[in-house]
Amino acid sequence: MAAPMISSLEFPFPDVPAPGAVTRVAPGVYWLRMALPFALDHINLWLLEDSVDGAPGWTLVDCGLANDATRAAWTQIIETVIGRTPVRRLIVTHYHPDHAGLASWLRTRFQCEFWMTQGEYLTAHAVFNDAAGYSAEEALAFYKANGLSAEHDAELLARGNFYRRMVDALPRGYRRLIDGQTLTINGQPWQVVVGQGHAPEHVSLWSSSLGVCISGDMLLPKISTNVSVWTIEPEADPLRLFLQSIPRYRQMPAETLILPSHGLPFRGAHLRVDALEQHHAERLADMEAALRNASEPLAAAALLETLFRRKLDLHQTTFAMGEAVAHLHHLFYAGRLTRRVGSDGVLRYAVA
Ligand SMILES: [Zn+2]
Repeated sequence: MAAPMISSLEFPFPDVPAPGAVTRVAPGVYWLRMALPFALDHINLWLLEDSVDGAPGWTLVDCGLANDATRAAWTQIIETVIGRTPVRRLIVTHYHPDHAGLASWLRTRFQCEFWMTQGEYLTAHAVFNDAAGYSAEEALAFYKANGLSAEHDAELLARGNFYRRMVDALPRGYRRLIDGQTLTINGQPWQVVVGQGHAPEHVSLWSSSLGVCISGDMLLPKISTNVSVWTIEPEADPLRLFLQSIPRYRQMPAETLILPSHGLPFRGAHLRVDALEQHHAERLADMEAALRNASEPLAAAALLETLFRRKLDLHQTTFAMGEAVAHLHHLFYAGRLTRRVGSDGVLRYAVA
């Protein structure tokens, strides 16, 4: 039988589950949604039925932020859906606070197994503890070297460890997920698909037998995944890693139901991969054109307007700086830009 043609993204579940409620999206697969206090105002989480030898159970995927609203929503889910059925394991796709925030709380509550990749587990602990180059002072030095004015310095330092305010604690110990590994959940094989560029070792979970892929933040239906250079690896080329990672989703059957962390479940992963490749190609071209039109070499901060076309607050500025540097590095490593450090210590780029 020929696979059905999908020529535009399909959204088979247009109705978002209410806080504390779940929507079944595939056999044994349930969607729930938690609020986020940001411009991106929600995260999707997943509950998977996980019976073993006829004994019912659950596997949870991702946690939500550590705040009272999310704890209350979980409490409601526990009362109305999970009940007394044991939670066997908690899987966290990556270290970002909306995904890992309540990991310790859920693990303690359920006494369940906790699964993550090593890159994500150790990064979570490093960020939580201001270790390994993740402090606000080190972030400031990175932004300064990329031309950001001192305007945001005080606010950035006052903000301190932003991660710690959204993650209450982290499990001390984990079970390691590895790319290509197969987990058996509810008797079905789920393949671990590790992607890079958004976080060090982000996990998607793909069940070809159910025709479902929990994509996490690696493949979202509307917004493009944040791809940033961070302070601890200031010479990184995460856009290369991201663009190398996303073809994995194109190889999945077109009718695969993609379960993203933000937005609606969708079909048409290959179309979304095409669109993201085009989006980044356009962004790179925009940046190159801005540098070609400039009368002098420019730093990343000077290019934010070109890349984002709107006024940004501190939170958005830090993300935007990471993204701008990621695009500049990608062009630089491709030989399309040159760069030099000025006497002020700021890195500036020009068309090669
Ligand atoms: Zn993320």
